[in-house]
Amino acid sequence: MDPVYHRLPVVDAGGMELHLPLVDIGPGPPRLTVVAGIHGDEPSPLVLVDRLITVLRTRELRAGIRVVAAANIPALLQRARWSSWDDEDMNRIGDGGGGPALTRRLAAAVVRACEGCELAINLHNFVMRTPLLAIQPPVADIEHRARHERYLAALDPHVVWVFGDSADDVRSFQGSLDAAIERTGVHVLAVEMSDLPELDEPLLARALAGLLRLAAACGCLDDQERSPRRNRVDVHRRLVRAPGAGIFEPLAALGGKVQPGDIIGELIPLERPGQRVAIAAPDSGWLIQRLGRRFVRPGDMIFTVGHPVG
Ligand SMILES: [Zn+2]
Repeated sequence: MDPVYHRLPVVDAGGMELHLPLVDIGPGPPRLTVVAGIHGDEPSPLVLVDRLITVLRTRELRAGIRVVAAANIPALLQRARWSSWDDEDMNRIGDGGGGPALTRRLAAAVVRACEGCELAINLHNFVMRTPLLAIQPPVADIEHRARHERYLAALDPHVVWVFGDSADDVRSFQGSLDAAIERTGVHVLAVEMSDLPELDEPLLARALAGLLRLAAACGCLDDQERSPRRNRVDVHRRLVRAPGAGIFEPLAALGGKVQPGDIIGELIPLERPGQRVAIAAPDSGWLIQRLGRRFVRPGDMIFTVGHPVG
């Protein structure tokens, strides 16, 4: 089935017209929307949606699927998390609140693009090497949690990052694009993966199979093969940041168990090459994300330890 490429008009600013490009595939109004490019420095999801559309072309669809491949064009063109045109983080302004800034108008357009669907999948990537990771937001409603669990089972991620549920965590989630989409009655599943240099074929294959099962769960495709129910780990996440500027050299393998004091990597300090600084795990758990060999600034994210929940 051939996709239809079209555009949602967003704004005409001084003759520069901004549109939200959409890809619709399958009969009838979309029941599933897949959103990529919310953050302009996260290009990996584009590889995944390209593969999804390529596979869907060969399938008989029962209902429509929509892809928003470039939610935040100004930020993507600047290769930055958010656009310097207005310095607004698209994932932190809800539906834009009716504001005139371009990122706010684009956020409103993304919410509109998802309206009427059963599920929106918001795709992101970390700079840290990250397995297929889905987010469990701090939503207490039992029906919401049961529905979320069904979608998680269909996706079959390696890791579920369970957000904290303190008042601050809940407030932070309420201000997100995900929460704004959910207020229109569309369930949201946020999914994270690795950055382009570490986006390998096994990760892409697992993510693509998960998206196809989610499409089936929304009634867009006939039932897919059942999820292999690989061992998934649900965790709270503890983030460790770079203590200084320099090159981070990874040592510990991703996905392994760590104990307090285990060396995860070393920092080659800019001011003292030849005197590496060992960076250790602060506590025990699973090493769920870890930077590759990269230049870091003080405070950049270098790894996370996952503490199993429940
Ligand atoms: Zn992101």
